[in-house]
Amino acid sequence: MFEKILIANRGEIALRIQRACRELGIKTVVVHSEADRDAKYVKLADESVCIGPASSALSYLNVPAIISAAEVTDAQAIHPGYGFLSENADFAERVETSGFVFIGPKAETIRLMGDKVSAKDAMKVAGVPCVPGSEGELPDDPKEIVKIARAVGYPVIIKAAGGGGGRGMRVVHTEAALVNAVQMTKQEAGSFFGNPAVYMEKYLENPRHVEIQVLADQHGSAIYLGERDCSMQRRHQKVIEEAPAPHIAPRLINRIGERCAEACRKIGYRGAGTFEFLYENNEFYFIEMNTRVQVEHPVTEMITGVDIVQEQIRVAFGEKLRYKQKDIVCRGHAIECRINAEDPFTFVPSPGNITFYHPPGGPGIRVDSHIYQGYKVPSHYDSMVAKVISYGDTREQAIRRMRIALSEMSIQGIKTNIPLHQELMQDARFVEGGTSIHYLEQKLADKGEVKA
Ligand code: ADP
Repeated sequence: MFEKILIANRGEIALRIQRACRELGIKTVVVHSEADRDAKYVKLADESVCIGPASSALSYLNVPAIISAAEVTDAQAIHPGYGFLSENADFAERVETSGFVFIGPKAETIRLMGDKVSAKDAMKVAGVPCVPGSEGELPDDPKEIVKIARAVGYPVIIKAAGGGGGRGMRVVHTEAALVNAVQMTKQEAGSFFGNPAVYMEKYLENPRHVEIQVLADQHGSAIYLGERDCSMQRRHQKVIEEAPAPHIAPRLINRIGERCAEACRKIGYRGAGTFEFLYENNEFYFIEMNTRVQVEHPVTEMITGVDIVQEQIRVAFGEKLRYKQKDIVCRGHAIECRINAEDPFTFVPSPGNITFYHPPGGPGIRVDSHIYQGYKVPSHYDSMVAKVISYGDTREQAIRRMRIALSEMSIQGIKTNIPLHQELMQDARFVEGGTSIHYLEQKLADKGEVKA
């Protein structure tokens, strides 16, 4: 096994990766910005290296500084976590050409999946169902565009091939608005993502977001670890995730899961990955693949008992997968609430000093968080400060346990979205299960709480 791994990330995921390394007997190097110098997980690591000032562009995205840190500390592999450089193919390549192991798929796979047009093409070839739409990139000729939209059927959505983070998308309801919308999305795509290519999909009106977790090794084996439902979203950001997805027949999940595992074998995937789908009227439609560990991976860990981060490390070292598909048995139900440092009603970020902290506990409760009393939440990064995960034999039990956990949890000195989660855990439609991706925004709009 590796002797030493460098963790190129921060916050809860840096701590999560550190824990996985420790259990495997691997030493850790944590790189950090000046703003994260005093964080406890930095002190807990065997070694730490400051790689730049608070600004991510100069620290967590500073490729030469990260590579140098790996060199001076003799780390053998680099774990990128999620966000930052985790889906940057050039970084993965730099890591490997510098003589380290990138804990993730090959650079060429990241590149293939990073372009949504090529990703969709690859998925179609592999037999994964996609949202109906244009064959690849849209042409320039307005007449052709109109023709394609007629064939797809309105409403349609125009999406940037290089898009991400919920940006670079535009919904079009009528032919009159079409050509202009394509032009505008192209322009934005060019300036945001440096790639003006756009494509068209049928706009699904009321889908759920259901994703499949996969694990693959370098020896041609791939399995799926069931599904997660991440439909509770605001501005395309996930707020609550759960596994399994309520009210979806296991045979449908098995069918799509098999397709995903098969696609991994076909494209030579390695490591952990997630196939994201929109789910409507009992059908799955692929939208994109994430080639890294996801924020919401713990809900899958809770119901399968598989430590996804440890498996990423084992596979990166070259080991064969330790599980066959028949070994993966999903048991019980898990729910994750993302706790953000933000106003629960206006969603304005609320960084600052945590003057009091009491985490929840008890049966079936897991808290993944790097915060503590006296910790200062920096203003420079994502506002997520903790993930509370509840597990129960049934969904009802997981919800009951989550309600108790949220009522015990106390974070003072900053505002958090705990009150929003408390409200959602009592929400009749959530409790029923199976709400669409528009449910939360609709609910907030009805309450008049979404301020544009
Ligand atoms: P990103 O990489 O920016 O997250 P995705 O392709 O994953 O982009 O889409 C983000 C979100 O946009 C989806 O979760 C969904 O809410 C919405 N969306 C994307 N494509 C469609 C579609 N064809 N129909 C309806 N909603 C869509």
